[in-house]
Amino acid sequence: MCRHLAWLGAPRTLAALTVDPPFGLLRQSWAPRRMRHGTINADGFGVGWYAPDLRPEPARYRRAVPMWTDASYESIAGTISSSCVLAAVRSATVGMPVEETATAPFTHGTLLMSHNGRVNAEAAMSELLARPGAPVPDSRCDSAIVAALLWESTSRLPLPKAVADVVLTLSELTEPDGTPARLNLLVTDGTQIVATTWRDTLSYRAGPDGVLVASEPDDDSDSDDDSDSDDDSDSDSDDDDKGDSDDGGNRNNDDSSGWIDVPDLHLLVADTRKVTLSSLIS
Ligand code: GLN
Repeated sequence: MCRHLAWLGAPRTLAALTVDPPFGLLRQSWAPRRMRHGTINADGFGVGWYAPDLRPEPARYRRAVPMWTDASYESIAGTISSSCVLAAVRSATVGMPVEETATAPFTHGTLLMSHNGRVNAEAAMSELLARPGAPVPDSRCDSAIVAALLWESTSRLPLPKAVADVVLTLSELTEPDGTPARLNLLVTDGTQIVATTWRDTLSYRAGPDGVLVASEPDDDSDSDDDSDSDDDSDSDSDDDDKGDSDDGGNRNNDDSSGWIDVPDLHLLVADTRKVTLSSLIS
């Protein structure tokens, strides 16, 4: 499984979002704390960000190497700031190519997308081929095929509905051995963040200057060894100031951290005013 994050709010540097936090993406590339499949994320990383004064399409930096080996990224990351950023570190699924084109974020027009999970690539490709006008995936990696399906869905549906549509369609496609698909998607168009939980972890923290959505908290709120969000028992739907959850969401065990765990099989839609959670299966 990969780890990913998205920020929407007041401008923040790429370093502040990915490198500086004690348990941020850089650290998660070699020591994730909540990852359910795999142990490290050393097969590449990528960051996409918006500079709306310059152009509507996001900029993107991707490498097929571990984040911790790219000193040049660390050097520039403190000088680039944006009000909307999506980033990921990758642990390639067995059989998937390790190459830049297989590394999130994938992009199309104004969209950025990351997939944390695994889907039957052959079956997903058949689904894609059945959709007239669907774009060609950048790579034969399952996540690139998921991205192409999403681009096709967004040509017909508003973003949150398109994301839900792709997840529900792909959730039917099991691996040849019967293993169900894992489909944590994270998507933005620069004005909203849309994410899903489908068999892996996701949390968010909404504050006065914006909202951060991430596979796992980037601070030390897990340090008392709350290593599995499912173990949280203090369910609390009375979210913080900006959060507005219509369907649960577990506050992390350390209330002061502000992180809220998203329950499995949910859709998260966030803009700078509000975070909404809804079940994908009801
Ligand atoms: N299946 C995707 C890949 O191979 C994502 C893997 C993951 O979430 N670890 O890149």
